[in-house]
Amino acid sequence: MTNESDERCQRCGIVGQDRRALFMACFYEMQELNINFQKQNIDGQIFYTLRVCKDCRAKWMESIQHWFNSKIHLITEQQTAEEKLETIRNFLL
Ligand SMILES: [Zn+2]
Repeated sequence: MTNESDERCQRCGIVGQDRRALFMACFYEMQELNINFQKQNIDGQIFYTLRVCKDCRAKWMESIQHWFNSKIHLITEQQTAEEKLETIRNFLL
């Protein structure tokens, strides 16, 4: 059942309550990600926003956590074998 306060999640499309806005800014044109962001100006700072449901907010937070903790791509040719192994060990923990 829907009512006037129901709102569609911009990510999954489910209609319901408890929609909240994610605010993102990184001084980069995030429209290039081909995501239907809205823009909001707060005190001169432009934020890209998405109104999403609780499940989608949780997935967004998991994605950030995964990105932050995934450092396997930081292995470089310049690292010694021991440094590479240390990076892999940290990734697996
Ligand atoms: Zn959703």
